[in-house]
Amino acid sequence: MKQTTAAWPAGVRRTKQREAIWDVLQQASSPLSARDIAARLGAEGAEAWLSTVYRTLDLLVSRGSVTRITRLDSDMAVYSLQDAGHRHYAVCLKCHKIIPMTNCPMDEFIPRLEDRNFLVLGHQLELYGYCSSCKAAAVASPSGKTVADPGNPLG
Ligand SMILES: [Zn+2]
Ligand SMILES: [Zn+2]
Repeated sequence: MKQTTAAWPAGVRRTKQREAIWDVLQQASSPLSARDIAARLGAEGAEAWLSTVYRTLDLLVSRGSVTRITRLDSDMAVYSLQDAGHRHYAVCLKCHKIIPMTNCPMDEFIPRLEDRNFLVLGHQLELYGYCSSCKAAAVASPSGKTVADPGNPLG
C-alpha cells in the first residue's frame, strides 16, 4: 500500500516523541490503536509510551490531522493519518474490518449552526454495519444472534 505523505500540522510543536508517533502513522497501512502504536515505538517500553501516544493522538485529532475511528462494541479506538485525500471509514460490527470511504459527504453538506460565525476546522464521520462477508449472516438473523446459535427454545 502507498505510504501517506501528510504534512506536519501547522502550529503543533515538534518533539522527538510526537515525530516518532507521526512516523508510525505514516508507515501504517491500516488504522492502528494507541496500543499498536505504543508497541511499535517501544518493543520493551510500550507501557511507558502509552500516555504520550494518547495525548499526541488527541492533539492530532483536534487539529484534524488524524482520524479517530471508534467501534461501538469496543472501547478501543483506532487512528489513521488524515492524508491529503481526507478519509472516512465504515466499520463492520461483526468482523471489525475497517473499510475506507472514498468520498466525503461534507463536501456537499452545509451545516446549519446556531453560531453562524463558527469556524469549522474538521469533522468526524463513520459508518457502521456489516461488510459483504458478514451481511448474509446478519440479515438471516436480524435479532443479532449469530446464525450458528439455535436460539432459546423456551423463548
Ligand atoms: Zn465483516
Ligand atoms: Zn469528511
